[in-house]
Order: sequence, then structure tokens, then C-alpha cells
Amino acid sequence: MGEIFEGGGECSFCKKEHGGSRMVFKGKSARICNECLSEIGEHVTGKPASKSGGRPEAQYTDIVKFRVKEGIRGLSPYSVPHFKCRVKLDGNESPFPPPKEVLEKVIREIKEVPMNRYPDPEAMVLREKVSKITDFPLDGIVLGNGSDELIEMLLTTFSGGTGRVLFPVPTFSMFRITSIALGLEPVEVELDDKFDIDVNSMVNEIKTKNPDLIFLASPNNPTGNRFSDDRIFEILKLSSGIVVIDEAYCDFSGKSFLPLIDQYENLIVLRTMSKVGFAGIRIGILFGRVELTREINKVRLPYNVNSLSQRVAEVVLDRVGFVTEGIQLISRERSRVYKELRIMKGVKAFPSDANFILFKVDDADGVFKGLIEKGVLIRNFNSPGRLENCLRVTIGTPNENNDFLRALREVLSSSIG
Ligand code: PMP
Repeated sequence: MGEIFEGGGECSFCKKEHGGSRMVFKGKSARICNECLSEIGEHVTGKPASKSGGRPEAQYTDIVKFRVKEGIRGLSPYSVPHFKCRVKLDGNESPFPPPKEVLEKVIREIKEVPMNRYPDPEAMVLREKVSKITDFPLDGIVLGNGSDELIEMLLTTFSGGTGRVLFPVPTFSMFRITSIALGLEPVEVELDDKFDIDVNSMVNEIKTKNPDLIFLASPNNPTGNRFSDDRIFEILKLSSGIVVIDEAYCDFSGKSFLPLIDQYENLIVLRTMSKVGFAGIRIGILFGRVELTREINKVRLPYNVNSLSQRVAEVVLDRVGFVTEGIQLISRERSRVYKELRIMKGVKAFPSDANFILFKVDDADGVFKGLIEKGVLIRNFNSPGRLENCLRVTIGTPNENNDFLRALREVLSSSIG
């Protein structure tokens, strides 16, 4: 699993100098101190934090103990370890920056943005462009500071019934985190053995718990697969609450439920610009019936999408050709990486409709650290249960994917040998 030595040096993660007796991992591109290693392990495996966040209970101040909601004290923050690796394939981002001419246009436009003024609170120009591209009514579109914010708005708005929120697991962690933060009750149902919706169990929960909201991320994160249409339809038909289909990755699956909002008044669809090249500008897009978006807009914070992001997104939406090319290349690369993983000894790769692949190995923590040593950062989901020994790799450029595949082969062969 690579070279471990006792000694000093700067940790690539916390940037602290460690001298003398500290055990430090030394790899080609990253050295990591023991403290960071244990912290990374904790964050990425998603193991629940101890009630006191790892500290003795006595260290809680009274403010934290008595004034923070109990549910929030039990949460751990959404955290992605940030440390420099040569190849970054952990965040489900696009590896492609915009082409030069788009970047130049963005710079020219940004110069004109009056930063002393508030943004357009309705983001009218941007929403009009989204409306035109998607052929969806303007009033049914709400923008968010990423779809994370839209998830929060939905939970805030549509929790006036039972206060219950149903979703299959494993899935995107913010459904649970935000539900708890808002004092709602998450109801979790395991996905079936193909990571598809276990429709009988979901139907049972809908009938007995009558959730206000159901979240279905399709394609799902971190499993990568799309859920079966007929199972989604069954849930849509049965639920009297809101059904949110989170289509963050739908550009890579070629399938969307957006046109079905005509048929189902309780359907809301979420999209984002994050996965196709614009994670940094934080633009999430919500589509729903006007009766619903009218209510959502009441809890939307004023000026929630800043003026720079609005302007950048406007420029991009006028030139979507390069975005489509990027999506096509990622989809081709996904097939190639999947095929390579399928034939790799000691790896079980799961099929993906998204821009990442979930795969299982014998020792996920060891492989994760071994890859970091070789300068490749992916995401470690190892935790007891369905994701035991599972890792998720985002599809990058062809070169990055080759680097990842080569590093994985080397790590696996050194752990076997
Ligand atoms: N939904 C899903 C299923 C996701 O995986 C993510 C990002 N990890 C989000 C929503 C949040 O995306 P955004 O960057 O738009 O907040």
C-alpha cells in the first residue's frame, strides 16, 4: 500500500510541518500526516459523527448543548476533503473549463456587472433563457444557489403536513441532512439489489407514513444508475405529497421527466449546471407547476443568485454547443472506464448513467490512500452496509482516466503482491 515512513515534512492536506516522530505517508504527489488520514477517513466514509463530534461531552458549551437543535448536534457537516492531487476525480465535476472565446466573453460581460447594486432578484434574463431552451413556462422556473439551496427551499415549503420526507438510500446526503436541520423526519428505504427503487417498500411507506415530500435522485448519487420509469410512475401516481426528481446527472443519461410535469401536478424536477462545467457558479434550476413555484418563491431568500453567476450563466446558455460536446465525450469515456474496471481483478464496477462510476474493492480505505499517494483523488464511500468497500470515481479527461486506471492497477497489484 505504498511507502510509510517515520519522519517530517509538510502535509499536503493541512499544510502543517511535521517533524521528528510523526508517521507520514510519503507518495509521489501527496504526503499525509496521521491526523489528516484519520480525519479524511471519517469524512469520506460518512460514518456518523459521535454525538459530541468526537470531543468529550463536557467540552460542549452551554450554548451548543441547550440552544442548537438536537438533530443538528448529531449531524456531521457535508464535507469533502480538499487537498491537492494531480488528478481530481472526487467531485462529479466536469473536467473541462470553458473554451477561450467563451471565457473572454464572460470576462467582458463581468466588467459590465454593477457590483455596487443588488442582483436582479428574479434573475429574469437567465430564467427566460432557461425557459426558451427547455420550452418550459417562465413562472414555473425557480433558480437556486446550486440545487442544494433548492432542496432546502422545497423542504421548507412543503413540510406542512406530516413533516416526513421519504427517499431511497444510499442517495445524495443533503436530502437527509437538510431534513434533519429543518426538524423534519427522514424516512429512508433501502434500494434493491440492483440499486433500483424497492417499489413495494416505498409504496408501503407512502401508505403508512404519508410523506410530504419524496426525493428520487435519478440518476442516483453515489450509485450512478437511473431508476426504472415504471417504478417512478407508480410512486408519482400514489403519492399525494410532492415528488421531486433530482436530475442533477440527467445530461449523461439522456432521459428526463421534465415533460411529465404536464401530467403530474405533484412533480418537481431539479437540474443543475454543476455537473456540466459550472460547479463554481452555483446555479440550480427547479421546474414545477406555477401553483407550487408561487409558494416556493415565498421562502426564496432575496437575491439568492448573485449577479456574477447570473451573467456567466447567461453567456453560457447562449453557447451550449461546447457543453454538449463535453457531455458526449464524458459519456464515451464512461463506457471505456467501465469496461476497463469490469475486467480488472478485484474490482466490481456498477453500471452508470451519470458522470461517475461506483465500484467495489476488497479494501476501499487502502485503495483510496494508495491512489492519493499516486496523486489521484477519488471519493471513498466505505461504511458498513450497502456501500461497504465502495469507491466512486468521477469521469475526467481521457488522460486523467488513464492515470486513474493505471494507478488503480498498480495499487491493486501491490496489495495482492
Ligand atoms: N443532487 C444530487 C443528486 C447531487 O449529487 C448533487 C451534487 N453532489 C446535488 C444535487 C447538488 O448540486 P448543486 O451543485 O447544484 O448544488
